[in-house]
Amino acid sequence: MKIFCIGRNYVDHAKELNNPTPQQPVVFTKPPTAVIRNGQDFYIPDFSKNVHYEGELIIRIGKNGKNIAEKFAHKYIDAITFGIDFTARDLQDYLKENKLPWDLAKGFDGSAAVGDWLPIDSVGDIHQINFRTVLNGETVQHGNSNLMIFPFEKMISFVSSYFTLQVGDLLYTGTPAGVGALKAGDVLEGYIGDKHLLKTLVK
Ligand code: ZN
Repeated sequence: MKIFCIGRNYVDHAKELNNPTPQQPVVFTKPPTAVIRNGQDFYIPDFSKNVHYEGELIIRIGKNGKNIAEKFAHKYIDAITFGIDFTARDLQDYLKENKLPWDLAKGFDGSAAVGDWLPIDSVGDIHQINFRTVLNGETVQHGNSNLMIFPFEKMISFVSSYFTLQVGDLLYTGTPAGVGALKAGDVLEGYIGDKHLLKTLVK
């Protein structure tokens, strides 16, 4: 399984981190060992003093493909869920400043929370999917797939022109504004519409 992530896919989030709006998708990856599932705890790593949550829609690839045309890309999505792209923001800032890869800040153990899957046919129009991140009972991020700079089809087509997509691969599709720091004892939850798909306790 490969895990792809798209950075800066919402204008409001790119602005909150003072990043330019990208002309093409910003892509990075996480290793399979980064995954935690609904109900598992998230452990703040020792090497960071500023770990952020980034609540995101995740799509799961349902068939193999390479150089997928945008008009066929929707056929490659098999399921969707809410996930969290945990980010060691202090380390990422250091790596960005030094023009180094982001892997250490984005791919550490536990950095990819994955909610329970919804079949893609069950969610209606994929370009109107509402989701939210809830921290300690309070909604901190609201997103909708209609606010993405690059829609699902564009992301799939773009990524598949570099990497063969395989059944089970995941694509984190970017976070809206409202990211923030975590501390031990926090509880993070995620919803698509009114469906509660992820809960993780921060330790
Ligand atoms: Zn992200």
